[in-house]
Amino acid sequence: MSDTQEEVATSQLWLEGSPPPRPGIPLTLRNGIQLFLANNPSSWTFEGTNTWVLTDAGHAIVIDPGPEDEPHQRAVADWIRARELRLEHLVISHGHWDHSGGLKALAALTGVAGVTDLRGSADGASLPFGANSDQELLVYRTPGHTSDGITLLWPRHKVAFVGDSAMARVNPYIHHPDGTITDILESMDKMAGLVDDSWLLLSGHGPVITSPRTHLVRRMESRQRRIAEVRGHHENGLDEAQIVAAMYGDRGEQTQRAAAATVSALLAHITERN
Ligand SMILES: [Zn+2]
Repeated sequence: MSDTQEEVATSQLWLEGSPPPRPGIPLTLRNGIQLFLANNPSSWTFEGTNTWVLTDAGHAIVIDPGPEDEPHQRAVADWIRARELRLEHLVISHGHWDHSGGLKALAALTGVAGVTDLRGSADGASLPFGANSDQELLVYRTPGHTSDGITLLWPRHKVAFVGDSAMARVNPYIHHPDGTITDILESMDKMAGLVDDSWLLLSGHGPVITSPRTHLVRRMESRQRRIAEVRGHHENGLDEAQIVAAMYGDRGEQTQRAAAATVSALLAHITERN
């Protein structure tokens, strides 16, 4: 069976409004880009964590093995083994457990030498990949959701793997104090400068982001509106808990915790700026 024949036949995007892929069943976005959705849905992770498997000419890279979950890591490892691919790198977009918890399990199942930690890379660092010399991923630091977030660009396919730095339907929460609003705004601006609207952003959670530059510009505006909103509440004397209640209401405990982290980051941002 040729990889190409199979993958062209099943190639599809997970777009906003369309149903998510089923855990254990990879979705081939295009030749060389597979999505495995982990079975860890929650208010924090939405449908679950996206594990990305990149392939080229018999070589493979995994970005975000997902939470420690044997069936998930086995599905990824089995898929790689069935195609006799050589797994070159195991990479994480950032250190959150729902992206990195399965590193050890996947390393053991695939026999890959180890984890390629790109989080300390300089912007524009190259990660050679695949058979041809034109095959490389470019690494950029995109802190904000956390301090260690990275984005991986694959220019050949015009896709960028952004981890939790951008999501299709929401602004990702800010894991304050490790993540900050100042950082995420800089990172969004950086990402918008690296891509144009013909690219796709492939997030750590949820559907594909199309027209990414337009998306990022709108999301930066929405962040600015949130900053203004928090500033207004702060100037009216509301404390942090009251601001969370005013902005997010009663949306369940987990959502409240994510909202509280973001409001805390917004308050730090405006008070530092005062
Ligand atoms: Zn995260």
